[in-house]
Amino acid sequence: MHLERLEIQGFKTFAKKTVFTFPPPKGGRFPITAIVGSNGSGKSNSADALAWSLGEQSLKRLRGKQSEDVIFSGSQGKTRAGFAEVTVIFNNEDHAMPIDYGRVAITRRLYRDGTAEYLLNEGKVRLADIQLLLAQANVGQRSYSVIGQGMVDHILIASPEERKAFFDDATGVKPLQIKRHETLLKLKRTQENLKDAQMVLAEMEPRMRSLKRAAKRLEEREAVERELRDLERAYYGAQWWALADDRTAVETRRGQAGTQIETLRGEIAELEAKTRVVEEKETADDGLKELQAAYRALQAMRDTARRAQFETEKEIELTKIKAQSTWAPLPLGKIIEEIRAMGEGLKGLRDLKGLEEIRKGIEGLLARTGELSKRLERPNPEDIKADPVLLGKLKGLKTDEQRIEQDLKELEAKIDAHATQEHKARTELIEIQRALRGKHEQMHAFEQEQNRNEIERARLEERTQALVREMDEFMKEEGRKVREVKEVARVHAGTYADIQRLRYKLELIGGIDPETIQEYEETKQRFDFLESQISDLEKALADTQKIIRELDGQIEKQSKKIFGDINRKFQHYFKVLFGGGSCELVNVASPTPSAEETSAGPEEPPLDSTDASLGMTQTEGVDIHATPPGKRLKALNLLSGGERALTSIALLSAIMEVNPSPFVVLDEVDAALDEANTFRFAAILEELSQKSQFIIITHNRATMEKADVLYGVTMGDDGISSLLSVHMEEIAQQGTTRR
Ligand code: ATP
Repeated sequence: MHLERLEIQGFKTFAKKTVFTFPPPKGGRFPITAIVGSNGSGKSNSADALAWSLGEQSLKRLRGKQSEDVIFSGSQGKTRAGFAEVTVIFNNEDHAMPIDYGRVAITRRLYRDGTAEYLLNEGKVRLADIQLLLAQANVGQRSYSVIGQGMVDHILIASPEERKAFFDDATGVKPLQIKRHETLLKLKRTQENLKDAQMVLAEMEPRMRSLKRAAKRLEEREAVERELRDLERAYYGAQWWALADDRTAVETRRGQAGTQIETLRGEIAELEAKTRVVEEKETADDGLKELQAAYRALQAMRDTARRAQFETEKEIELTKIKAQSTWAPLPLGKIIEEIRAMGEGLKGLRDLKGLEEIRKGIEGLLARTGELSKRLERPNPEDIKADPVLLGKLKGLKTDEQRIEQDLKELEAKIDAHATQEHKARTELIEIQRALRGKHEQMHAFEQEQNRNEIERARLEERTQALVREMDEFMKEEGRKVREVKEVARVHAGTYADIQRLRYKLELIGGIDPETIQEYEETKQRFDFLESQISDLEKALADTQKIIRELDGQIEKQSKKIFGDINRKFQHYFKVLFGGGSCELVNVASPTPSAEETSAGPEEPPLDSTDASLGMTQTEGVDIHATPPGKRLKALNLLSGGERALTSIALLSAIMEVNPSPFVVLDEVDAALDEANTFRFAAILEELSQKSQFIIITHNRATMEKADVLYGVTMGDDGISSLLSVHMEEIAQQGTTRR
């Protein structure tokens, strides 16, 4: 890559369009261009124009106070220019700039109203694009590609930190630093996004936690409900179907007893008819008739007494059944509460006098606990006490029956006696009556059984209704299904207690608002999304940090190596220029960050920003030690102007050799050199022209003599610079000069 052309218009003294052309490399070296002319003719302005077109931002370097100072300000006979425009054209056939163009034209334009633009092959671009492109081609726009007038020893006067920036350029780490800077900006953006996301997440967290608890409670509730449903199905199913079996059995027994009773009834009627036939034969004995009438009356009384007893017994059983079926368990919560309250009461008794009371209290507690625990189980019908009034009544009825029975026996004896005495024939009647009594006894036994069946039937009926009520209350529709289809249900002794426990558990869990659950679903979705976003960002952050660390490593490695090379070459050129002596570049760690050179353009932040989180805070600097031959090592500012210039030239030469810039503009760097040194300098230039294209502004004859092309800059009375070019080769060949 090399400079082909520089077009200047409206820039400082170059009011008219002025074009510099530069010859291509030839014979393994780049032709040297020298720009000469009288003081104030505009030579330095041409160097300024080149630096400016490549994006120079420093007003100090451009020798102005404000940006517009670079626009031609007018002169006698020539009005000021409206804008300044400089285009520099590179031959990029070697693609040192990594773009497809073989020729690259970079244009910078500035209008008086402050509008600025950069063009790359006539397309608008950002300054940063140009900076990156140039850095990739190793053109250091801030330091040594254009060494302005009086700037040659600037590097010696500069602070160690300012030198650091210069050496960053010299060691070619600038592209890496630009990349690092861009990565760092990305890192900061990522950090901000991460912070925002984390903040939102933190705000959501408390609500999320409470919603989560509600959702968990719902889950728990559903699990308990499921378990309860299963248990209820099994428990009530078993109860229901056992009852159904019992009902069938009692119906069968009832039917059988009814048949028996019917049969007996017929037999009794038959026997009674027989009795009447025999009795009609009896006419004489009224006494016997009377006895027999009395006997029948007693029999009727006994039947009534018995029936009354059955009724009473039934009534007693039914009251018991009612009591049992209307029984409801005391809620477990209430029991626990009461036991806890009694326990609290006991805790209050502390002194010795209270011992007796404690004992009583504990006994009371135990007794009550026993009672309460009984309240959890459905009582057995046997445990239910019968109504005492009904019991008394039953007892009275039984006594009546016994008495009547006694009377009957006596009467029977009398009739018997009567019969044996009176009529043998009556034996038959007695036989009949005995048989009749036997039937009555049997009848009585069946009626008793039937009565028990009735009672059992009523009990089952009552129990069935109670069960249906209970099932309807707890199981709703499910209960109906259980009653319709018989299932083999497995229930154990503790099933009902388990049901109670689960119902209590549900009571404790309480109800849950379905809206809360919906909110939970929505919030969770958002929460999960944020969390995944945060983890992505964290990963991106880690990746970016890794890239920065890698870049840092690369920067450090490269700068270390090239710095060492420059140091060695610096010592070489120092010895050549001074004819001896010693010098050294020393890396120093500086605790304070440098104050950056004031920047004219607002476009770009400094490239070497560091980030605390990456542990890159230490600003390094570079110290220069230089001892001319025969002198003691002394401070740089004690060197003479010429010595300073020589030291700087040695350093520049070292840099140009180690890391050559495609082109170098040197503005009167040889001004302070004596004649002998001018020759040495010219020789070095000659040597370095194999690596870089030199454009030298000089008043020195020895330097001019090394040039292949000479541009004379002149300035007329109109204050406008014009060009006069002289190709030395042509002079040598033709001896002509053209304007
Ligand atoms: P020397 O040999 O003394 O270093 P030189 O040839 O390098 O001189 P320059 O520094 O290029 O001279 O030119 C300086 C001249 O340019 C000054 O006279 C200055 O007034 C003039 N100048 C600078 N800016 C402008 C501008 N915007 N408009 C017109 N003239 C300007």
